[in-house]
Amino acid sequence: MHNSAARLIPDYNRELVELSRTKNSDYPLTATFSCIGESSNTEIINAKYVVGCDGARSIVRQSIGQQLKGESARQLWGVMDILAVTDFPDIRKKAAIQSAEHGSLLIIPREGGYLVRMYIELCELQGDERAGDMGVTPTSLTDKAREILSPYTLNVKQVVWWSAYEIGQRVCDVFDNVPNEKREQQLPDTFIAGDACHTHSPKAGQGMNVGMADAFNLGWKLATVIRGQAKPALLHSYSQERQAKALELINFDKDMARLFSDKPKDAETARLFQQYFKKHARYTAGVETQYSASAITLPRKHQQLATGLQVGMRFHSQMVVRLSDAKPVQLGHTIKADGRWRLFAFAAASDNGQVDKPLASLCSFLETNPKSPIVKFTPDNSDIDSVIDVRAVFQANHRELAIESMPSLLLPQKGSMGLIDYEKIFCAIQSADIYDTRGIDRDKGALVVVRPDQYISCVLPLSDYDGLAGFFDHILIPAQVTYS
Ligand SMILES: Cc1cc2nc3c(=O)[nH]c(=O)nc-3n(C[C@H](O)[C@H](O)[C@H](O)COP(=O)(O)OP(=O)(O)OC[C@H]3O[C@@H](n4cnc5c(N)ncnc54)[C@H](O)[C@@H]3O)c2cc1C
Repeated sequence: MHNSAARLIPDYNRELVELSRTKNSDYPLTATFSCIGESSNTEIINAKYVVGCDGARSIVRQSIGQQLKGESARQLWGVMDILAVTDFPDIRKKAAIQSAEHGSLLIIPREGGYLVRMYIELCELQGDERAGDMGVTPTSLTDKAREILSPYTLNVKQVVWWSAYEIGQRVCDVFDNVPNEKREQQLPDTFIAGDACHTHSPKAGQGMNVGMADAFNLGWKLATVIRGQAKPALLHSYSQERQAKALELINFDKDMARLFSDKPKDAETARLFQQYFKKHARYTAGVETQYSASAITLPRKHQQLATGLQVGMRFHSQMVVRLSDAKPVQLGHTIKADGRWRLFAFAAASDNGQVDKPLASLCSFLETNPKSPIVKFTPDNSDIDSVIDVRAVFQANHRELAIESMPSLLLPQKGSMGLIDYEKIFCAIQSADIYDTRGIDRDKGALVVVRPDQYISCVLPLSDYDGLAGFFDHILIPAQVTYS
């Protein structure tokens, strides 16, 4: 964190002991910390918002009256990172091994070429039984792994790290302090993320990934609301979007757990397990998330204009050529997760940016019309792309386009010196044409609205100015208005 752009240093040795609500309308939340190893042993922080990333035994979750709900059965697992000699041929591949009689294990080859992680399924815990009481040791884990791998041999030379842990598949009803039935009347100010609101087995390697996706979803929303750019109602969408994704993950995890723990009956069941693993590769890679329709994700009315840029899913990148320097770049990598909204305008076939064509008309509307979201929501004295950043993609080869006659919105003068930003205009690459790979309508073009977390909010016709303006009017606050 210290080396990151924000140069933050965590406050270590603080334990949250209580989170309470006060009558102070500016800072309605009071967090009381005990300071471990310091003379004054309590610290109080008054806050507008609190995000509890405090793990499966979250105090923040308790303070908002939420519980992890789910099946009471908990599975005991052992995990060890080992240096070993074995004749098992797939030791350097991710592999799930289901033995006939002795249970299952998962192999994850670790970095460096030698180290291997093994996840070993042990027994189910009942009642008050805890992982720590079950007498698991590195030796018992090694013995169990040998049994499962038999007739292959496993000669463990060193157990570098090991642990035993319990997993329950559980999730909270909501991920903030507003029960669903009160969403119309109350705004959320306390949130929970990661293991604080969902727990599951590590088979799909998703716990940390999904927790980070929670924080990524919440971060930009909280930042824009705190900056006074967005209406606080935007914060409802965090729980709505991420709780649904956590439920999906738990269902996926249940299927995986069942398939993993089942005794392999025959070649057909083994094949089904293999198929399930493959089918969900995109899911486990974290690119299968699709948010449902909401204020920030519109229904897919115009999806046919860009069939490969699915509304509700991550903006799917593709190589294009940057017009200003003819450099091939990944379009998705040109946008940073910096809190700005993005409009990707894909030009129709004959449109090379000429003044009377749809792309230039859109740019003119965005730059000058009082109804334009850029005009409305960009503060005075800020760069024109500081809230909504417009990028254009043309079908023509970059040699056919004249940068000097492009709309001024695509060559904005920015910063204290008014330098020109030359990195807003791109062309399709013939060998992997983005219009083909992302199914963009060549005759009509398309306008793709991308959220600050790089998920697609909507696909619109290039000329749907009212649709575009209406979308942002629901979410953002005019730059000169203060919202309370
Ligand atoms: C063996 C194992 C293997 C795993 N493998 C993977 C994997 O391959 N991929 C993957 O994505 N996930 C994996 N996971 C899951 C992953 O580790 C968790 O989902 C993830 O760590 C959750 O992150 P978190 O920040 O929500 O909670 P935690 O990592 O639990 O962090 C919570 C933090 O809050 C602190 N805290 C708690 N209470 C307080 C308090 N009152 N005051 C102050 N601080 C407090 C804790 O000390 C801790 O530092 C694995 C888990 C296990 C057990």
